[in-house]
Amino acid sequence: MVDPVKLIRKNIRSLAPYSTARDEYSGGLGIYLDANENPYENGYNRYPDPHQKRLKERIAQIKGVPVGKLFIGNGSDEPIDLAFRVFCEPQQDNAISITPTYGMYKVAAEINDVEFREVSLTADFGLDVEGLLAAADEHTKLLFLCSPNNPSGNSFPEEEIVRLLREFPGMVVLDEAYIDFSTRRSLLAQLPQYPNLLILQTLSKAWGMAGLRLGLAFACEEVVRAFSQVKYPYNINVVTQKIVYDRLAEDIKPQVREIVAQRAVVAQKLAECRVVRQVYPSDANFLLVRVDDPREVYTRLIEAGIIVRDRSRVRGCAGCLRITIGTPEENRRMIETLKNMEQ
Ligand SMILES: *Cc1c(COP(=O)(O)O)cnc(C)c1O
Repeated sequence: MVDPVKLIRKNIRSLAPYSTARDEYSGGLGIYLDANENPYENGYNRYPDPHQKRLKERIAQIKGVPVGKLFIGNGSDEPIDLAFRVFCEPQQDNAISITPTYGMYKVAAEINDVEFREVSLTADFGLDVEGLLAAADEHTKLLFLCSPNNPSGNSFPEEEIVRLLREFPGMVVLDEAYIDFSTRRSLLAQLPQYPNLLILQTLSKAWGMAGLRLGLAFACEEVVRAFSQVKYPYNINVVTQKIVYDRLAEDIKPQVREIVAQRAVVAQKLAECRVVRQVYPSDANFLLVRVDDPREVYTRLIEAGIIVRDRSRVRGCAGCLRITIGTPEENRRMIETLKNMEQ
């Protein structure tokens, strides 16, 4: 079993974190003369709760996870960056990732001056478990897996992820940004069994709160504590904490069901378009679509005011566009534009 505490950088393990005014006193109503704030109430004049106690308790309850295993960040971007800052010694340690996948892992590695080793997925976007294990050495700290994977849209079999959790010598960062659209279950319930498991989820996709910037990270208490000590003290602002808390009362299932139903409709309609060569199976809220001339299709869509993501220059994605599932009306107009290309 990997001991995550031993993977944490020495300077982080011995860090004395910044203590905020609100760490020293966290009682209720009072006269706050401790943080040099402007005393005139306007809704925003006070610093936010650095521990996000109320919001974290609510999210932990919804997710069925002890609050000590939950970290919340300024989007998933923050825990991705923190994974490097907490575990990887710059210019010495390395991280491993699948490719193609979400571009942010590599950017965060480069910013943190950490070697990033990419192991290609198979031609049909499957995991090369042996290749991923073989890429690891004594300086390997992180493995990034994204399931369902962006941009391919497929999920990886749980047995393969579990094998990596058992055999990989570092932390396995499993990005479940699209899990709400998937037929597969989250690995959240397996958290107690695998101390080296770090799960990322987000409120940016199924929850419809991309603009508020709130990412979730789930891991053992020791890792969550390290992340909390390294983060900016007030990483989640007052407005985000309040609005997210209120919006968590909403039932996202009807919208998720609608998007998943539309995904099937759009996949079928796309497959009927003559410009489309292949529609890859998707467990997410987008479809990866291979066409003969991606630049031409992309441009025609832009001319119709429809913006998709051109992934055709990404290794393993030649000819591919990534199309997000929109409203039924938006989807209909996108398909109509592609059909019109045939004339
Ligand atoms: C969209 C997406 C996220 C979400 O990022 P936020 O910073 O939380 O908005 C995370 N991971 C993947 C793979 C994504 O595609």
